[in-house]
Amino acid sequence: MDIQKLVSAQKHFFASQQTKDISFRKNALRKLQSELFKREADIVQALYNDFKKSEYEAIMTETSIVYSELKMAIKNIEKWNKPKKVLPSILNFPSSAKIYSEPYGTVLIIAPWNYPFQLAISPLIGAIAAGNTIVLKPSELTPHTSTIVREIIEAVFDERHVAVIEGGVPVAQELLTLRWDYIFFTGSVNVGRIVAKAAAEFITPVTLELGGKSPCVVDDSASIKLAAKRIAWGKFINGGQTCIAPDYILIHKSQKDAFVEAIKEEITLAYGDDPEQSSDFPRIVNTRNFERLAIMLENENILIGGKTNKDDCYIAPTLIDEPSLDSEVMKGEIFGPILPIISYETEEDIATIIGKYDKPLAFYIFSNKNRFAKKLIQQYSFGGGTINDTTVHFANHRLPFGGVGESGIGGYHGKQTFDTFSHKKGIVSRGTWLDVPTRYAPYKGKLNQLKNLMKFG
Ligand code: NAD
Repeated sequence: MDIQKLVSAQKHFFASQQTKDISFRKNALRKLQSELFKREADIVQALYNDFKKSEYEAIMTETSIVYSELKMAIKNIEKWNKPKKVLPSILNFPSSAKIYSEPYGTVLIIAPWNYPFQLAISPLIGAIAAGNTIVLKPSELTPHTSTIVREIIEAVFDERHVAVIEGGVPVAQELLTLRWDYIFFTGSVNVGRIVAKAAAEFITPVTLELGGKSPCVVDDSASIKLAAKRIAWGKFINGGQTCIAPDYILIHKSQKDAFVEAIKEEITLAYGDDPEQSSDFPRIVNTRNFERLAIMLENENILIGGKTNKDDCYIAPTLIDEPSLDSEVMKGEIFGPILPIISYETEEDIATIIGKYDKPLAFYIFSNKNRFAKKLIQQYSFGGGTINDTTVHFANHRLPFGGVGESGIGGYHGKQTFDTFSHKKGIVSRGTWLDVPTRYAPYKGKLNQLKNLMKFG
């Protein structure tokens, strides 16, 4: 496919103003919705083929999230797009003022492999709702899902409106040499840096949805059984390959033994005595990632799990006891089913460990002390989080989802995805029935009048 030709065709199509029409956008979203419903079984199968993701998790964490975003966009698109009236400034009297949402133009979305369907289609929905033309590049590491995504988009859209370009790093690199009106990237911090540099060339605005080492603090008042259940779920869902998975546990010393017992029980309850036999536990996406993770298990004190099978890219749900902060498992984001547990005694201990890492994408606190939980939320900078649960803040599309510092720039979900893909244009409309002369030269004798006016401005 000639990428430059395609992008140029999209730019022409955008310039034709057709995507500015709300019924055009709504229609496009409705068509996408019905195609997705039609292809649901294929999507589920593709996710299984890519990394043995179960049907249940495919529906819970991929298709249903997309359906909910679609439904919300279709229902609210008029409201979101309507110019918002704001109070006029007295300095402009007489006038009215409004904020208009305008589509950026031709935008690029680059998606990762870990939720390869949802993280490609969710931003796409907002980009369509906002009236852009879009090129979407799914991850090459989940080829079955990438193909389904392309087939669905090809069945629904004129490629001048929305197109999928499949491929790996060279394709992504080629895409990044082009001039886009917006780039939405989800992936690793390192590639995020590459995207930001490429965007800087044309002053292209970006959203970067990146990763990080998300802590999970369990204090001395936490309800241990429930904490263990919710942490095991949030950590081992998708085989631990979740950007907002709890990366490591910081637990009050007094709770550690009970927690280890409780999480052991929860893992067995969820996946049986041998999780390798469980149809609910996914595999690591490829050998490279398997090897990256397997190294983390070396020379560590393994409390639970630890079993691996390279032929099937399997790594058991694993708990690592008190790893050194310089160890492989504590160096960077784990992004797999390995959970280190580190005990603390004082709040200073927590601060020392969290302070070692960049601002994380997520933060979790298990505590029955409200003040303590609130204190931590205010003390540390992170993308978003949950008190007494893990990952579920992602599911509320009224909350902005995104990182801060090295975990990302910008946010999305629900209306915020529409806003992310829209430039906000401030417009003042002046009345013509009066023209206050204060601002016009000659200025002599008008300074006091100006000063008085500025007091109200
Ligand atoms: P990745 O950065 O390796 O790849 C993401 C995308 O970038 C892929 O489409 C890939 O083809 C492309 N890419 C890879 N190398 C590139 C290069 N040199 N130049 C241009 N493009 C390139 O990330 P991944 O392994 O697919 O995903 C895992 C990472 O993504 C983790 O760090 C995880 O935390 C993060 N993530 C973040 C979110 C979020 O919402 N913040 C969601 C999912 C994953």
